[in-house]
Amino acid sequence: MSELYIRVIPTDPEWQPTAEAAAGTAEYVAGLFAGSGDHVEAVEPVFYERVTLIDGGEYMEDVFCPRCGGAIGMDWFWELLHAEAAVGDLGVTVPCCGAALSLSALRFEAPIGFARFEVSVRNWSRGAWELSGEELAAAGAVLGHPVTQVHAHY
Ligand SMILES: [Zn+2]
Repeated sequence: MSELYIRVIPTDPEWQPTAEAAAGTAEYVAGLFAGSGDHVEAVEPVFYERVTLIDGGEYMEDVFCPRCGGAIGMDWFWELLHAEAAVGDLGVTVPCCGAALSLSALRFEAPIGFARFEVSVRNWSRGAWELSGEELAAAGAVLGHPVTQVHAHY
């Protein structure tokens, strides 16, 4: 069964909210899917012990080097994440041109992120597919830190 997610994350990978701000933000985001005819299966705040890949699932088709523009391939990316117990400091050497980069600098077909917190929105339906810039700004105000969104398909 296919599942769709909107993953709302702080723009700073290390940043974590208080439990109260996390709950308040989940409540605010849930309210965005509470209109007439809207539906959402679950909206949950999730904390991660370490900086964690916020992936896009099947939306991640390839990864590109920001230095030389080369297509690196998702196999390399998944092997790297599998080999590293933790994403840690996000430092990596790319195979295309040997540049030392931050994982968060890699370019993906669809946006992904790294975070220690997310508000996870599962299987929603409403008129607007994505969260708008205004909705993200309001969610960030409740959370206490600017946020962005990652869309995922599993
Ligand atoms: Zn390169």
